[in-house]
Amino acid sequence: MKYDIAIIGAGPGGIYAAYELVKNNNSLKIAIIDCGHELSKRKCPIDNDKVKSCINCKTCSIMNGFGGAGAFSDGKYNITNDFGGSLYEYIGKDKALKLMEYIDEINMSYAGQDIKMYSTANSDLKKICMQNGLQLLNASVRHLGTDINYVVLENLYNVLKEHVDFYFDTKIEDIKVNDDSYSLIYENGQIDCEYCIVSVGRSGSKWSEAICKKLGIETRSNRVDIGVRVELPAAIFSHITDQLYESKIVYRTAKFEDNVRTFCMNPNGLVVNENTNGIVTVNGHSFEDPSKKTENTNFALLVSKKFSVPFKDSTGYAESIARLSNMLGGGVIVQRFGDLERGRRSTEERIAASTVRLTLNATPGDLSLVLPKRILDGIVEMIYALDKIAPGTANDDTLLYGVEVKFYNMQVDVDNNLETKYKKLYMIGDGSGVTHSLSHASASGVYVADNILKEIAK
Ligand SMILES: Cc1cc2nc3c(=O)[nH]c(=O)nc-3n(C[C@H](O)[C@H](O)[C@H](O)COP(=O)(O)OP(=O)(O)OC[C@H]3O[C@@H](n4cnc5c(N)ncnc54)[C@H](O)[C@@H]3O)c2cc1C
Repeated sequence: MKYDIAIIGAGPGGIYAAYELVKNNNSLKIAIIDCGHELSKRKCPIDNDKVKSCINCKTCSIMNGFGGAGAFSDGKYNITNDFGGSLYEYIGKDKALKLMEYIDEINMSYAGQDIKMYSTANSDLKKICMQNGLQLLNASVRHLGTDINYVVLENLYNVLKEHVDFYFDTKIEDIKVNDDSYSLIYENGQIDCEYCIVSVGRSGSKWSEAICKKLGIETRSNRVDIGVRVELPAAIFSHITDQLYESKIVYRTAKFEDNVRTFCMNPNGLVVNENTNGIVTVNGHSFEDPSKKTENTNFALLVSKKFSVPFKDSTGYAESIARLSNMLGGGVIVQRFGDLERGRRSTEERIAASTVRLTLNATPGDLSLVLPKRILDGIVEMIYALDKIAPGTANDDTLLYGVEVKFYNMQVDVDNNLETKYKKLYMIGDGSGVTHSLSHASASGVYVADNILKEIAK
């Protein structure tokens, strides 16, 4: 089959690129190929009853398929250049913000219209944070929630499937460069295209690294974030989450002068497993539907690490730490903050006696046997700093799940059009290392689609 444009990856980057192309030129022949299932067939087998932990499915229903890693995400679309990616370095801050606002408009018109927009502008929490050695980053956020986010994706799929050929359960193994086209090779065939957009996300990181190596596209090591997911009674953070929903707060540790930051805050949410290339780590999300809300709030506390000389493999470093936690806990480990501070492991009995109810079935254990001292010391310092603005954060019963790792793909060498050294071959979204959030990945898709439309119109 020969297409004008083929998109590898049906995550937010690929979906919004296709949406923009279809909206502006519905005579284009477009294909989207994804190794995961279509949306309605995506179902993680963990039911906390018969299947309690990750069984390493061939493709992970949490990470792969229509909607990508975003399908069961919390659906928090942050409009900001302060975090979520470095798209602005390629396309400028104004353009990046405008595209993120445009994505928000699309989401509003496909089911998110009743969702409130939160903003840090004029928040008194900024001052309170500053007075306590913390920094609150600027952002506006629309929290679709896992449920509304799913409906938006369903609606977008219904529009796209009328104009786009979808190839699900199809893993692209190789990209071949021809004189005036690309051939995308999969197990049972090949798809040819004039333009190719690669948007394979974090789950496609190993594959895209190999493709870049084969095609001689330069890559640079990116940072990795390592830490824990904190879970505590929602009431402790409600004065912050009611006002901002999600707050990105940064703390510079006194001991090592490392930055520790809050990430992915889920008021009344759930802690969940995440499987990246067979390594089980922890994440979180929440629902907009009041009947699905829990009594807890969860958020990550992360420390960034980047290695250069002689060791460059930041991802490998974090993977080793995550593997260690998987080895000791058979998956994710949970520990009460009080047990960590007393230098003892958590046990089933201590967890059962805790006033905070777990929302993820994790193995009670000792995170100090897993996390390097420098990272753990930073997290403990941050918990005490947060305790000043949200008293109760440092309670004994606060739960810490580990490890949480944010793997960032290696930074692919692309120009300001997000085009590789090969004409008409683009790398976007989290897979390019340029973005690491829903709104940035989606914006990168629209940006490339607009550039392709301009080129075709010439
Ligand atoms: C549990 C969870 C919660 C999250 N919550 C939030 C949030 O609230 N807000 C936020 O901003 N971000 C959140 N994120 C991150 C967000 O989901 C990602 O930043 C975003 O999905 C990146 O979009 P993408 O299109 O670049 O890649 P992805 O969404 O990862 O999509 C890539 C797609 O490519 C496919 N693919 C990979 N390799 C191949 C191949 N070789 N052949 C064919 N297909 C391939 C994959 O199957 C996948 O479907 C969350 C992530 C998780 C896992």
